[in-house]
Formats: sequence, structure tokens, C-alpha cells
Amino acid sequence: MKEKKKMSLTTKILLGLVAGVAAGLALGGSPDIATTFIHPIGKLFINMIKMIIVPLVFSSLIVGAASIGDVKTLGRIGGKTMGYYMVTTAFAVTIGLVCGKVLNPGAGLSIPVEAAAAASEAPSLIDTLLNIIPKNPLQGLVEGNMLQIIAFALFLGIGVTSIPEEKGKPFVDFFDSLAEIMYKITAFIMELAPYGVFGLITPVVATNGPAVLIPLIKVVIAVYVGCLVHALLVYSTAVTLTAKISPMKFFKGVMPAALTAFSTTSSSGTLPVTIKSVKDNLGVPDKIASFVLPLGATINMDGTALYQGVCALFVAQVYGIDLTMGQMSTIVLTATLGSIGTAGVPGAGLIMLSLVLQSVGLPLEGVALIAGIDRVLDMARTSVNVIGDASATVVVAATENVLDSESSAECAS
Ligand code: ASP
Repeated sequence: MKEKKKMSLTTKILLGLVAGVAAGLALGGSPDIATTFIHPIGKLFINMIKMIIVPLVFSSLIVGAASIGDVKTLGRIGGKTMGYYMVTTAFAVTIGLVCGKVLNPGAGLSIPVEAAAAASEAPSLIDTLLNIIPKNPLQGLVEGNMLQIIAFALFLGIGVTSIPEEKGKPFVDFFDSLAEIMYKITAFIMELAPYGVFGLITPVVATNGPAVLIPLIKVVIAVYVGCLVHALLVYSTAVTLTAKISPMKFFKGVMPAALTAFSTTSSSGTLPVTIKSVKDNLGVPDKIASFVLPLGATINMDGTALYQGVCALFVAQVYGIDLTMGQMSTIVLTATLGSIGTAGVPGAGLIMLSLVLQSVGLPLEGVALIAGIDRVLDMARTSVNVIGDASATVVVAATENVLDSESSAECAS
């Protein structure tokens, strides 16, 4: 008997995606069926992923920080990670602004006055920074406040390296074991991803439909083109220069994470998959992945920053406002810093958009214009957010000389 060739998970997820789009188009006339009966499948998948985020991030970050060793090394790796995140994010907004300028998505669009809605409050940068240190770490854990969980885990990880080894070992062993269990559960949940993706995509296509997208289709094109350019230009260059990994290998390796991000629109939600992808496919060691990725899922949002660049220009064009170079620089700065405070959850970027618009005095009603198509934009930007995080692990691991290039070559070939 002929043995059946096993289909890879990426192929299965892709099939789920295609089937979801097809089902969404077929159900376009009656989106209720999609939201009532098909959406719960997707919701179940998201809930399962959410279930493991806090214990996974907390345990893996403690082990990550503890295994990096001394505070000096941790500081060095942390510095590299932050530097890379900031520089790539600034590139992303700039690419977004260029795409918005060249593709001119706002031309010929009139604003429906009734669409004007109050923009949601975005937290101020100083509040975001102050809030990183939890007054009550357990509350941070219970509420799933990612920045606070990261901060507390880092303190614990650094603390444990500063006490005698025999005292710290049981603590690290416990969290090491917890992290391993979480990775195992992740693998199990990922087997269900194709169904989850199907359940998430179908209602989006059924409710939004191609017709609703037509007036704003240029914004969508600008964001998607920008994301593609950013990924191909910035990440390809970064991984080729530092790790000598070909862009093809890199993108193939991160594909499961990118597709999960595309359908869940949550980089925090995708985190378990991102960790698995860079470890298994790109040869990034555990200690780098478990430190760089949770941090990235929370503070590194290249796709979101790029989207804000495009949308700011779009709003300016719609309202007939010419942005000066100074205003554009302000957009780059606000979007870059603002991405630190953007949670890796669906739709968070839309809230931060009001911060960016406000920084250059653009009408906040613009947020309402974008809101209708935000989900479609969120898909692309979240994928880029996640690919950006993954590229950071490769760059940091390569510059630390700990990238297992053999395993990355094997898996990607
Ligand atoms: N959904 C994005 C993410 O999770 C954040 C955003 O809304 O831009 O990365």
C-alpha cells in the first residue's frame, strides 16, 4: 500500500485560510450563519491560545533571563533587542508614509459626516512607562498585563542569578518544567490551528464582503504593499547581513507564525507559535527566543507603526491637509514610541492611531473611517509585527554567536 505523504501544518493552515475565504464569500448574503455557527470554532481556538499565554510568557521569561546568566549579558542582549526594535519600527513608519504618499489612498474619497465618532482614549507615554513596574505583580499576572508580567519575570530571573546556585536551582527548575509543559500544550493547540483559522476568517469575509471594502481598498493596498516592502527590504537585509540566512529560508521558517498572526490578529496570541517556529525552523536557542519574543510581542509593532503612517497620510488627504516634514517626523516618533504601549491584541493599533493623529493635529474622526476596514488591516500588520519579532531573535542570536545555523538550514531546505 502506498504511504500517504503527511501534509505540513503550514499547508493545512493555508488550506483553512482559503476554505475560510471561500465559505465567507459563499455566506456573504447571510453573515449571521457565519457569526453564529462558524465563529465559535475560531473563538475556541483563540481561547485555547489565550489560556497558555500568561503561564508561558511568565515561565519562559524567568528561565530565559536566568539562563542568560549574569546581569551584564542580560543588559547586552536587552540593549541589542531594544535597539533593533526601535530602528526597524522607525523604518516601518517611514515606509508607511512613503506608501501613503505614493499610492495616495485618500484621493477622491468624501467623508461621511455621521461616521465621525469619538476616538478612544490612548494612554499617555509616561503612563505606559510608569505602569511597567507592577505595584502588585500578582494582579498583573491575573489581569494578563504583559508589560508588568515581563518586568516582574525579568526581576525574578535577574534576582535568581544573583543568589547562590543551590538556592536558586529549585525555583528555575520549576519554571523550566512549567515552560516545557506549555510548549507541549502549544504543539497540541497548533494541530487545531487549521480549523481555528477557518472559523476566524469565514465571518470576517462574510460580514465585510468585497463590496464594503471597495471605497477603502486603496488604504488596504497601501498597507499591504508597505508591509511587503518592509518585510522584504528590512528583515531580508537584517537576517542576511547578520545571520547569513537567505530571506527565503527565513520567511519559510516564520510562515506558521505569520499565518497564525494573520488570522488571529494578535501577536501575543501568536507568541507560542512564534517561539516554536524560530526554535524549530531557524535554530534560535531557547534562551534568546524566550527573552526576545515575549518582549517583542508586547513592545515591537512594526506593522502597526507602518499602518499608522499610511492611515495618518490617508486622513490628511481626505481632509485636504498638507503635512509638513516636521509633522511627518513627529508621526515617525509618536508611532515608534507609541508601539511600546500598543498591546499585542486585536484592534489595539486603531486605538493608538488616535494618539498619532492627535500628535500632528489631524481630525480624530479619521479613526472612524479606518475602523470599518481595520480588521483586514490588522491581519497584515500583525503578521509583520510577528515576523519583525522573529527577525530580532535571529539577529540577536547571530550576533551572540549562538544561532544553530545547521538546524535552520536543514529545516528550511
Ligand atoms: N493586532 C496587533 C498585534 O497584535 C496590534 C494592532 O492592533 O496593531 O500585533
